[in-house]
Amino acid sequence: MLVSKTLAEVAKHIKPGISTLYLDGLAEEFIRDHNAVPAFKGYGGFPNTLCTSVNEEVVHGIPSSYELKDGDIISIDCGVILNGWYGDSAYTFSVGEITDAVARLLEYTKASLEEGVKAAVAGNRIGDISHAVQVKAESGGFSVVRELVGHGIGRKLHEPPEVPNFGKQGTGPKMDKGLVICIEPMINLGKKETLQMSDGWTIRTADGMPSAHYEYAVAVNRGRADVLTTFDFIEEVLSKM
Ligand code: MG
Ligand code: MG
Repeated sequence: MLVSKTLAEVAKHIKPGISTLYLDGLAEEFIRDHNAVPAFKGYGGFPNTLCTSVNEEVVHGIPSSYELKDGDIISIDCGVILNGWYGDSAYTFSVGEITDAVARLLEYTKASLEEGVKAAVAGNRIGDISHAVQVKAESGGFSVVRELVGHGIGRKLHEPPEVPNFGKQGTGPKMDKGLVICIEPMINLGKKETLQMSDGWTIRTADGMPSAHYEYAVAVNRGRADVLTTFDFIEEVLSKM
């Protein structure tokens, strides 16, 4: 919940002219004010609290002096450690007016996450989630990033199993009740291929087309997963802007 609230706090400030480093500072302050620790800062040497990935950047973008401009999209990924437990969530925001094609990309990426959640049921396999995400994303004509995947989470940020956003039903590890995983589709408007940028972190689309990313943590349960993250705080802020 703290990650959700941090992203909602950041959401209040997303507008043309704001730098991604400014958003990062807000998030770090908010997290520390709530007696938690930013989980990404120092993780594998990552320098900041947020991953801020703009337009063709897929994930792991480093906050900088770059100022958002009208028509941008920005994926903000946030992790926290609270009482020894990790939280991890991402949301893609639009800045000002975006094109219809990009709006549709955001809509389908979020919908693909929801389809993945529906498949995160005890007794199912990880491939059932992967398949559900892929089918939804591709039904909109979009492509699924292959190189990066979701993951288990708990006392560590990344735990087994890996949760790919593409795959076949009935494959992969079986899910038991209580397994906590992050489902995080990374969906491209153009082709699926990605590149790593020279900063050693940022992943961008090879064709330079926009990419979107949403992430929830869910606890596998019988019948229906318990979604441990909510976008409600974020969307309440956005509805008032
Ligand atoms: Mg994340
Ligand atoms: Mg994650």
